[in-house]
Amino acid sequence: MRLNIDIDKQGRQTGTISLASSTDDSAYRQIQIPVVAFRNGDGPRILLMAGNHGDEFEGQIILTRLARQLDFRHVRGRLLLLPAVNLPAALAGTRTSPLDNGNLNRSFPGDPRGTPTERIADFVEKTLIPKSAFLIDLHSGGNSLNYVPGPSITDIEDENARSRLLGILRSFGSPVGYVFSEPPTTDVGTIGCCRRAGIERLGTELGGGGGVSPAAVTLGETGVLRVLTYLGALDSAATADLPPPGPMRILRRPGPYTYYYLYAESAGVFDPFIELGAQVSQGQPVGQILAPELPWREPITVHAKVAGTLICRRSRGLTRRGDGLMVFAEDLPC
Ligand SMILES: [Zn+2]
Repeated sequence: MRLNIDIDKQGRQTGTISLASSTDDSAYRQIQIPVVAFRNGDGPRILLMAGNHGDEFEGQIILTRLARQLDFRHVRGRLLLLPAVNLPAALAGTRTSPLDNGNLNRSFPGDPRGTPTERIADFVEKTLIPKSAFLIDLHSGGNSLNYVPGPSITDIEDENARSRLLGILRSFGSPVGYVFSEPPTTDVGTIGCCRRAGIERLGTELGGGGGVSPAAVTLGETGVLRVLTYLGALDSAATADLPPPGPMRILRRPGPYTYYYLYAESAGVFDPFIELGAQVSQGQPVGQILAPELPWREPITVHAKVAGTLICRRSRGLTRRGDGLMVFAEDLPC
C-alpha cells in the first residue's frame, strides 16, 4: 500500500492510499482510499478516521465535511483525515468489506500480505498510527444498532491518564459521553492499535440504524471541532461560532458483558418496550420476542439484568437467537 502525498507539507493536501485488489473483472485494480492532510506549523499530530465500518455514515459525513470546509490556517500541527478508511465497506454501505468479509475493527494489527482488510489494518497500525499522537475514531450503531449519540473513551486504571482522557471526553460538549470497559475484542480493534503505540484515542457512537440523523451529525461535528480545539490542534477562531459545550452526563458500561448486554434467546420479531435513554430497574421487562407464525404462543420476555440507562438498541425487528438486543450503562460516580 502506498500513500501518494507528503502529509507533513504545509497547507491542505488531498491524496490516496492505493490498495491493490486483483479480481476477475479487474486484474490490476488499485482501490484508492482518500486522505486529506492539513498541516500548519507546530502542534499535535491527530489522525481522524471514519468508515472503519462502512455502514456507519455519520462519521463519514463529518470527516467529508471537514475535509472540504476546514481552513488549514486554523490548524496547529497536522490533521490527517480518512473519511472512509475501509473504502470497499464504505462504498457497499456494509459493516464488513465485500472483498473479503473483513471487519476492520477486528483485523488489527493486520497483515501486509493478507486480505484487503488485513492490509488496511496493517497500514493504519504500522504507518499512520506511528505518525500520530492521538486518534479520533468515529463509529455509530451501523445497520443493526442505534446508540444515544456521544463520544467514548476506554476505561483505564492510571489515574492521571484517566482524568486527562475524561477532560478530552467532556470537551466534546454533548449531553452524553461514555466510558467503556475494555471489551474482549480490543486487541484486534483500534483500541489495541493505539495501546500498542502508546497513543490516546477518542471514539464515538453517533446514532446508527442504517440511516443518518442530522442531529447526531451536528452533535458529532461540533464535538470533533471542540475536541480538536481542546487538544490545541485548532485555534479558537475555528470554533468561535459554535455554541458553548453543555454539561455532560457520563455513562459507564462496566464489565462483565453478560450483565450490561442483552442477547436474544430465541429467533422471532423483537418487540421492544422502551426507547433509547430510558431508565430501567433490575429485572424490569424491557421487550419481548414474538413468533408471528405462532401468534397464540407465549412470547419470550426480555428482562434487564441491571438497573441503568438504555444506551443502545437493536434497530431491526427480525431477530435470530444470539443477536444483541440492548446495551445498558450506569452513571459514572463523581
Ligand atoms: Zn463501528
